[in-house]
Amino acid sequence: MLPILPYMTSKITIAIDGFSSTGKSTIAKQLAKQLGYIYVDTGAMYRAVTLYAMQQNYVSDNHFDEHKLIGDLPKISLSFSFNDSLGFAEMFLNGHNVEQPIRTIEVSRLVSKVAAVSEVRKKLVSEQQEMGKNKGIVMDGRDIGTVVFPDAELKLFMTASADKRAKRRYKELLDRGDNVNYEEILHNVQERDRIDSTREDSPLVKAADAIEFDNSDMGLEEQFERIMRLVNDKI
Ligand code: C5P
Repeated sequence: MLPILPYMTSKITIAIDGFSSTGKSTIAKQLAKQLGYIYVDTGAMYRAVTLYAMQQNYVSDNHFDEHKLIGDLPKISLSFSFNDSLGFAEMFLNGHNVEQPIRTIEVSRLVSKVAAVSEVRKKLVSEQQEMGKNKGIVMDGRDIGTVVFPDAELKLFMTASADKRAKRRYKELLDRGDNVNYEEILHNVQERDRIDSTREDSPLVKAADAIEFDNSDMGLEEQFERIMRLVNDKI
């Protein structure tokens, strides 16, 4: 692992975007830990708003009352709280820890619909910009290098084949004890990517100055080493 000497470095912003289940959050968490930076999982924020909309019966597979959700946005409070034993910050929705329920397949099925609403994006983007205003942050999502921090010093764009991504996600959910089926996961990964890439507001696209990483056949260690070299160049 390449050493980082704190007194020689200046804090930067690292934006990690890419398709679903490309291992963005694993890399982002590892980078933040190594650099002593804050890590923000913006997908968790969209998932928490989706969970709220589900709890209020505003959204399901066959209906979406987006006006009611938009009306409730001022009442939705999102925060992260660092859990020492887990080593990452958990998502809180209106004071409740929602780290587990936001990761279910039901939320995954509806989140891209909710994330396509401009008013939702506006609220979350402004909260994300506030969190990163002092730099020293690693943020992952779909629009970080294009919309949230277009001036980020380092932008990464992660890709991998849909099959590899679905297998990783499937294993993750099985390990958690969820009762899931591989075909459903593959369909969800592909469908989310389709909606995320084709929506009108802030679609998932690679920023012109982002460095693309296809990690279909790359181990975590190799990926991390390569990315740390890019980080070291920047700081
Ligand atoms: O990162 P994760 O897969 O948890 O994100 C869940 C969903 O949230 C994505 O499929 C996308 O619809 C939405 N999202 C987004 N913009 C972000 C982060 C996530 O639209 N910056």
